[in-house]
Amino acid sequence: MQNSINGQRSTQDYQQADAAHHIHAFLDQKALNAEGARVIVRGDRLNLWDNEGKRYLDGMSGLWCTQLGYGRADLAQAAAAQFAKLPYYNMFFHTTHPPVIELSELLFSLLPAHYSHVIYTNSGSETNEVLIRTVRKFWQVEGKPDKKIMIGRWNGYHGSTLAASALGGMKFMHEMGGVIPDVAHIEEPYWYAKGGDLSPAEFGLQCARQLEDKILELGADRVAGFIAEPFQGAGGMIFPPESYWPEIQRICRKYDVLLCADEVIGGFGRTGEWFAHQHFGFEPDTLSLAKGLTSGYVPMGGLVLSKRIANALVERGGLFAHGLTYSGHPVAAAVAIANIQAIQNEALVPQVKNDSGPYLQSLLREVFSQHPLVGEIQGAGLVAALQFTEDKTTRKRFANENELAWRCRTLGFEEGVIIRSTLGRMIMAPALIANRSELEELVEKTQKAVDRTAREIGVL
Ligand code: PMP
Repeated sequence: MQNSINGQRSTQDYQQADAAHHIHAFLDQKALNAEGARVIVRGDRLNLWDNEGKRYLDGMSGLWCTQLGYGRADLAQAAAAQFAKLPYYNMFFHTTHPPVIELSELLFSLLPAHYSHVIYTNSGSETNEVLIRTVRKFWQVEGKPDKKIMIGRWNGYHGSTLAASALGGMKFMHEMGGVIPDVAHIEEPYWYAKGGDLSPAEFGLQCARQLEDKILELGADRVAGFIAEPFQGAGGMIFPPESYWPEIQRICRKYDVLLCADEVIGGFGRTGEWFAHQHFGFEPDTLSLAKGLTSGYVPMGGLVLSKRIANALVERGGLFAHGLTYSGHPVAAAVAIANIQAIQNEALVPQVKNDSGPYLQSLLREVFSQHPLVGEIQGAGLVAALQFTEDKTTRKRFANENELAWRCRTLGFEEGVIIRSTLGRMIMAPALIANRSELEELVEKTQKAVDRTAREIGVL
């Protein structure tokens, strides 16, 4: 073994050691080991460098999380100062500390007024685990202990732990390790693939009404909450039709089912609003947060509760039988504060809404509207998807769309851009600090990757 700190090791050496010991996320380990993982060693703004010195423009903010890009000295300093002052203490046994108190104040200064409390976690998956227990506890306090069932959506993503993956609707994840009881699913509002002859508006209503059917089938007195991402991220960056969210909200209110928004990727400015539910104009009862809370620099998540839920838990709930060693970690809280303050001071949310977001969206439409491989361009702010199609008129999807999109992603790496593939969609979500020339580079390199994909299958 050689010293890794000074970056002296060869890429092959790193790859062999990685293959020997490390199980990676969401792939066939043997196939990865044969190919060797890319070794990323450094970052600055939207740029990443691998161990060979090749630069990539990161069009995905890491995993939808580096809102401020890489290399921020202010976040590093906030962490270093907190490490020196109080690197750890917990929230058990009647204690707290200034970073967590000040982070909460800051968070609720951003959030709409009907939210009042937060339970801190260390990731999105954990947040959604905590959500299930918290929502059930709320209904117990309300004298409705039978309200236990959570309804999610097929192809939704809420994390990788047992309960979070059960809430999600990725069947291939359910097959690994099972699911938990008292979880049900309805169809996703993926008009391009599933809308048939319906208009997007009609399809949006039809999907939303599946929630009503499911609540009636299970019994409203047994349904605790409905969880969904305001726009689906890992499922393909799918924006629902405009008719969808108002109808979902109406149904949740009618049957007193809590509306739980998973804002893990939509939060912290991605759509040009602080939170994605504000972009879509609905009012959830809970918000699941992570990722952009700290720009991904250190792990941190949180479950935000409405005043209604928090009042019940605080005033009448008695013992809240939950606690995590690292929740509200002082270093994570200090980084989250520095991160949110930077997003505020640099006016990044209005910039995404009024400038960089519309610029990216219009560039993509200019370049790809007439592209033979692209049937739909969706997105708002700094998040977008290109849907691959075999036939633009019938919206036919390629039988091998997964492979095709993965190939495009690989070609993207060759061209020096990181974009993500999910089913037949290419996704991008660059850092909120992106300027116009970085967005132009993102679109130019993405175009090269998409063109090369189209040429390989003979449609360009
Ligand atoms: N919810 C959503 C919407 C996500 O996109 C993710 C992660 N991509 C999670 C939850 C899980 O977050 P984590 O990976 O931090 O556990």
